[in-house]
Amino acid sequence: MSTATHAVVVGGSIAGLLAARVLADHADQVTVLERDATDVDGVRRAVPQGHHIHALLARGHEILEGLFPGFTQDLLGLGVPILDFGTSVAWHRGPARFQPGPADMMCVAAGRPLLESYVRGRVLALPNVSLAHAEVEGLVLDATRRAVVGVRTPDGTVDADVVVDAAGRGSRTATWLEELGCGTVTEDAIEMDLVYTTCGFAIAPDFDPIGEDIAIVSTMTPELPRGMIYARLTDRYALSLNGLGTHAPPRDWESFLAFVKSLPLPDVHRSVLSAERIEDPHSFRFPASTRRRYERLAGLPDGLAVVGDAFARFNPVYAQGMTVAAMAADRLRTHLEATDRFDARLFARQLSRVVDTPWTLAAGGDLGFPTVRGRRTLATSMANRYVTQVQRGAVKDPVVAKAFLRVAGLLEEPASLFRPTIVARSLAA
Ligand SMILES: Cc1cc2nc3c(=O)[nH]c(=O)nc-3n(C[C@H](O)[C@H](O)[C@H](O)COP(=O)(O)OP(=O)(O)OC[C@H]3O[C@@H](n4cnc5c(N)ncnc54)[C@H](O)[C@@H]3O)c2cc1C
Repeated sequence: MSTATHAVVVGGSIAGLLAARVLADHADQVTVLERDATDVDGVRRAVPQGHHIHALLARGHEILEGLFPGFTQDLLGLGVPILDFGTSVAWHRGPARFQPGPADMMCVAAGRPLLESYVRGRVLALPNVSLAHAEVEGLVLDATRRAVVGVRTPDGTVDADVVVDAAGRGSRTATWLEELGCGTVTEDAIEMDLVYTTCGFAIAPDFDPIGEDIAIVSTMTPELPRGMIYARLTDRYALSLNGLGTHAPPRDWESFLAFVKSLPLPDVHRSVLSAERIEDPHSFRFPASTRRRYERLAGLPDGLAVVGDAFARFNPVYAQGMTVAAMAADRLRTHLEATDRFDARLFARQLSRVVDTPWTLAAGGDLGFPTVRGRRTLATSMANRYVTQVQRGAVKDPVVAKAFLRVAGLLEEPASLFRPTIVARSLAA
């Protein structure tokens, strides 16, 4: 963006802040419009998922270190556990633990409010970025109706050369575009009816199976569609339970405990029994992963980008959301470095390609559960069978475990699991 420009970002959460960080290198002024109060301690009202454990995947960690040099050191200084994922996260498929061994990728156990507040502090320290408290109520198009030239707020129009929608799951851009005559944004969905329920405990339980590590994870399987993450954060221990359909983890304490007991890791149940509970459990219902196909909208106006959950929203058990938001910011950076002018249609296509891999991984995994609704193909069922075999291999072989975790961390492409050594070792196991 070579001439004087003003970029407006709708939504000042993870995706919006990361987009603002990138835009600050290319626009004269960046204004983030956020409807929620951000000067709060802890979980924000508009981001209730902040009550639940938020892991930053390795790819996201790499991008954040690039955007905010010193990120890792700063977080370590705040007491955030940052350790190798392969050795510090006891990853189980059901009851069976993956072989531990260095995965050469870090796990950042910051917790959502701390991570977001750190990122906000770094972005708002940039001289040409500001955050204003406002709810965006619509887009403003130019006379040709081919370009976005601003947004509407209760206080009037805010002019913009580029508008980035990072309004999360409640984004209304698709509706606004339809009302403005730009066409209908189609949507893909994988319906899984997932519930997350999380409870926080004081440091440290009398019986602590995590120790100096970061977390214990047990993933859902089609045989038992219930899973959990038990994590050591800066200020507490947190246990996030997840389950599909009739396996929804409950909020009342006795039923919560019964759910923990039904999981295949008795140590976690024992630990929670001895821990001091510091809050009541919080639940979040997640009906479906959704992907809005802006790249297919012929009438997509120029000057408009959609990022974060507003573009694609993933089943949270894969912990991809914040990392995909970071990947979108990274794609925006390369887009702006390569072009003089932001090109909305090109960027939507580029971002869709970025989303392809995490979407395929998450949708593929979910479609392995018979109750999940979505388009099943022969390719997804074959890939599922093979990935299940890789996970069985990971229980026996640290090389296979590392290969799997690096794909799940979005550092490697899924194709890397088809390397002859990984195929042979997975089958041998
Ligand atoms: C239970 C659960 C657990 C999760 N665990 C993980 C995890 O472990 N790792 C991970 O990476 N991700 C996880 N996620 C996903 C992650 O929370 C989201 O992907 C991420 O928050 C998306 O960021 P975002 O900025 O796009 O949207 P959001 O964080 O939802 O923020 C949207 C922002 O836009 C603002 N806004 C909305 N509309 C307007 C408007 N009209 N005007 C102005 N402002 C507006 C809102 O107030 C809000 O601040 C989890 C999600 C859930 C539900």
